[in-house]
Amino acid sequence: MKLKLNGWDLSITFAAAHFIPGHHKCARLHGHVYALHCEIEGDEGDDHMVMDFTEIKRFLRDIADTLDHHVLVPGGDGIAKVEVKDEEVHVDVAGKRYMFPAEDCAIIDVPTTSAEELSKFILDWLIKEVKFPETVRSVSIGVDEGKGQGAWCTRDL
Ligand SMILES: [Zn+2]
Repeated sequence: MKLKLNGWDLSITFAAAHFIPGHHKCARLHGHVYALHCEIEGDEGDDHMVMDFTEIKRFLRDIADTLDHHVLVPGGDGIAKVEVKDEEVHVDVAGKRYMFPAEDCAIIDVPTTSAEELSKFILDWLIKEVKFPETVRSVSIGVDEGKGQGAWCTRDL
C-alpha cells in the first residue's frame, strides 16, 4: 500500500534561487518555485493505516519555510568553495565568485543544489527525524523545480 503527499496540493512549496555549476544554462543564478512530496510504501498496521503522516507534513513544511526566499548554497563536499565571514557568504565555483549577505542564504550540506541532491538530502534527514513503523518498507522524497519536473529519491528501511 502507498501513501502519497503532494506538495503542490498541500502548499508545501517555497521559492528560492540557486545555480548548477558547469551546466550550460543553469550555471547562471536563477530561481524556481519548489514543491516537496513524499511517498511511503508499506502495510497497514492494526489501526488500518500505513502510518500517521502528520509528522511528515510538519517536517516538510518546516524545510519549505526554512528555505523560502533564500539563495540555496551548496556547502557539502564538492564543487563549490564556500566561506562565511563578516555576515557574508563567499562562493567560489567553476571560475565564478558570488557574494551574498549571510541572512539571504541557506547553506545546505550537498555537493550541488540539483533537485536530485536536494531530494537525497531531505530524505536522509527525514529518515533520521521521523520514526517509521516497522511495516513501512520504503520512503521516497520528490523535489519539483516548478510543476511537472523534479527528482525523486527512494530508500528502503
Ligand atoms: Zn534550477
